[in-house]
Amino acid sequence: MTADPSFAEYKPVPRVPKKPADYEASCVTEVSELLGLAIKCEKSSGTWQTAHAVDVWMADHTKKTGHTRYRRALADFVDSGAAEAPARSAP
Ligand SMILES: [Zn+2]
Repeated sequence: MTADPSFAEYKPVPRVPKKPADYEASCVTEVSELLGLAIKCEKSSGTWQTAHAVDVWMADHTKKTGHTRYRRALADFVDSGAAEAPARSAP
């Protein structure tokens, strides 16, 4: 038995923040090469509040350019101020 607290003793961080998650995609299709380095398109969808809006942007960008490789990102927000670590027990 260890003196360290287990994860089961932690209260969960709230998953319903005041700010909704941000979704974004950027095009990483290689469009040319310069001095041996791949040059990527790097067009961005901008930040959206739904994944669907980003999917629509990618479909439209693919239709217009033929580019097919993207990097999608999701950033969510949490409030760690409500999280409490349990008291450390003595060894
Ligand atoms: Zn592109």
